[in-house]
Amino acid sequence: MIERLLSRVLQSDELSSIYPRAPFDSFIMPLRTDSLFANQTTDAPAAAGFALVAVERAFDRAPEGLTYLIPTGLAMLPEGARVLVPLGRGDQPTAGWIVRKGADLSELTTLGCNPAKLKFLLAQDVSEAVLPSELLALARWISGYYACPIGMTLAGILPSAVRKQVGRITRVFYGLAEVEVDATPPKLTKRQREVLDAIRVMELPAEQAAVLRATGLSSAATLKRLAELGCLRTSKRSTIEAEWSMSAVGSVAAVEPTTTQREAVDRIATTFDTFAQHLLFGVTGSGKTEVYIRLIQRCLARGKKALLLVPEIALTPQTAGRIIARFPDSRVAILHSGLTASQRNLMWSLASDGAADVIVGARSAVFAPVPDGTLGLVIVDEEHETSYKQDSAPRYHGRDCAIRRAQLARCPVVLGSATPSLESWWNATVRKSSALHRLPERAPGLCVPKVTIVDFASERRQFRDNKVHLIGPMLERGMRETLDAQGQVLLLLNRRGYANYIACADQRCGWTAQCSECDAGMICHQDRIASLQWVRCHHCQAEQQLPRNCPQCGKTVTVFGLGTQRVEEELLRLFPMLEENKSLVRVDGDTMQTAKHFHNCLGRFASGEIRVLMGTQMIAKGLDFPNVRLVGVISADTALSLPDFRAGERTFQLVSQVSGRCGRGGTAGRAIVQTFYPDNPAIRLAAAHDFETFASQELQDRREFGLPPARRLARLTIRDASEAIARENAETLAHAIQAIAATNPQSAEVRGPQPARLSRVAGFYRFEIELLHDSAVEISRILAAARSADLLPLGERLSVDVDPVS
Ligand code: ADP
Ligand code: ZN
Ligand code: ZN
Repeated sequence: MIERLLSRVLQSDELSSIYPRAPFDSFIMPLRTDSLFANQTTDAPAAAGFALVAVERAFDRAPEGLTYLIPTGLAMLPEGARVLVPLGRGDQPTAGWIVRKGADLSELTTLGCNPAKLKFLLAQDVSEAVLPSELLALARWISGYYACPIGMTLAGILPSAVRKQVGRITRVFYGLAEVEVDATPPKLTKRQREVLDAIRVMELPAEQAAVLRATGLSSAATLKRLAELGCLRTSKRSTIEAEWSMSAVGSVAAVEPTTTQREAVDRIATTFDTFAQHLLFGVTGSGKTEVYIRLIQRCLARGKKALLLVPEIALTPQTAGRIIARFPDSRVAILHSGLTASQRNLMWSLASDGAADVIVGARSAVFAPVPDGTLGLVIVDEEHETSYKQDSAPRYHGRDCAIRRAQLARCPVVLGSATPSLESWWNATVRKSSALHRLPERAPGLCVPKVTIVDFASERRQFRDNKVHLIGPMLERGMRETLDAQGQVLLLLNRRGYANYIACADQRCGWTAQCSECDAGMICHQDRIASLQWVRCHHCQAEQQLPRNCPQCGKTVTVFGLGTQRVEEELLRLFPMLEENKSLVRVDGDTMQTAKHFHNCLGRFASGEIRVLMGTQMIAKGLDFPNVRLVGVISADTALSLPDFRAGERTFQLVSQVSGRCGRGGTAGRAIVQTFYPDNPAIRLAAAHDFETFASQELQDRREFGLPPARRLARLTIRDASEAIARENAETLAHAIQAIAATNPQSAEVRGPQPARLSRVAGFYRFEIELLHDSAVEISRILAAARSADLLPLGERLSVDVDPVS
């Protein structure tokens, strides 16, 4: 195997030209310890230091990487280089990244390594990829902070298309390098001179294939050599494929910034060149995007790159479109989930070549490989969004990584929101680690939406029939008026499916449809056209037919509760014209399977073809359509009922974000919010547009109960198919963690183990241990100690979530 690989590597002129005499032939020789520390011996390879290499697997026994010796021929490989290392019994050549290099071999003994047992790196990977050191430092931080082995971390943060070199970009272009007047010209061979002469007469820059044809070369080795010697300049293809980001663009004309916008820009701009955190708290429609654009312009004017994170990729079309339109002369790279593997690779290369000036993307764009020292600004739009949190290892928070990234790049980071997360609000108002900038007013020409709270319990009593009604008289009237006046409507219900509660009609029987694999109720779904109904579990996707009769007593089964499909049914009954001209669209995870579907749908909404957009939180965020005059919240209570200490915060966010979608044109907008809890402070204060009162009350509660952000939280989840084993493992782990925590006199609080809120999912029982402390540093210390004692092998049986969001 090794031999086959080596012969392939040796044949590859790309490698041999760069590392001509790597001691490939001696890798498999047993290493003599004495030779390691001796200067040079003839029969064993010399090591030019050692490297910690992260292979893309979860070896937690080497959370910081596996140790290898560096053969002298590869001594120049930098940290961050992608290499091949022998792994496992068969010394299988495996790709990995050098995460740390050490020159001093005696350090190995202190690391607890036996140098005699170490193997050598094999070669640089053919991709020749090298991670910028700022990115590598970020990965190391994530690995430590989120308690995830470095190999798994890198596998989780780098696009797999890039790791696997799918659709690798081979389109290299060559041009002539500018030669400095007084530089001594390099000594060239005759052949090299001939090649250069042939290139001089070509139209440049020319693609590699064309250059090869014109020069009669059989490989690119000579060209690469000439580039190394400074005679040729190389570049990669740098067109931006952002076609679908260009449509459905809102207004793009540059506007005159308001005084508050200008002040925010000026104040933030004073911190260019240093790390500084800013919270831009601007009500919906206050023109935060304009502030971002102005800041990006200033950043580019300073010759630096800017990174803009947006919450969900579905939102990118509008934001990205606006950015592209405002930077016609700059190169904007859009990283979105609709990219093909090769497009993703292209974007990656553009970023790493420094070709992209602005990078816009969701969570993972925070890992764009911007060259070291060139990042000048990081912006996180809608920073409160939970979609910034990754829900598999490494369970990082994109916003917090953005802050860290800015710190590593020594540049400012701007978090923007109309409803900041309490974490960011705490940082701005209590810890004062970030500067607070307010945009309290809507942009010129936009009206503040009037929000009406409807007590749905009392409205429902007005109905004389026994039918289910999800749209009360007030909302129905509002819709009629809006549609008659040619306005558009957004309707929010944060629940997919038809109905969320399936039960026996006889309350004494008490049967409800539960998933057999999960501790959760089944959700009823229906296909309106085929008039079919079935039940599905939203946790494990198990499906079955909707039983007609109760399996316990044989009486009929009824479905209660609400879901977007049921709202759709009711809307079409109330407004038949919506069905006739197909001007109602339901937007949820079931109908919008890809970002393209959603984007398409937004395009039709922008053109006015769609009059009513009804759906889950996908429509609550970031949309900016001037003709939306009414926003209806079918039920503000979906988040309130969750057993989560952030239930109030989520409800506040949802109600204020969705009401902020109206009143963006010249005409006034209104929002109608249906709820069974009209007096709930989250709903009341959201309707009154009073974030600050809400936040201060909520922070007081969190302090009182010792919850985040007043304290830091990490959650360990232990899973097993056997409840007894899961419980036992959880107890053992909790004891061990207790013991580690107790080594600090200001011991962290260890809660649990207790059954998780969803105590069983897909057949696995789940127990949780929670770790709370005032300081994130102490949480990190405990987790690090637990990791080095091999207590936290991440996988199916265990997950670690630092700063969980749900
Ligand atoms: P936010 O992101 O704060 O919700 P947006 O950036 O979407 O707000 O801005 C809302 C609308 O106001 C956009 O259509 C934008 O073009 C417009 N706008 C922003 N700033 C100004 C300004 N200074 N003058 C006029 N219109 C503005
Ligand atoms: Zn299930
Ligand atoms: Zn029954």
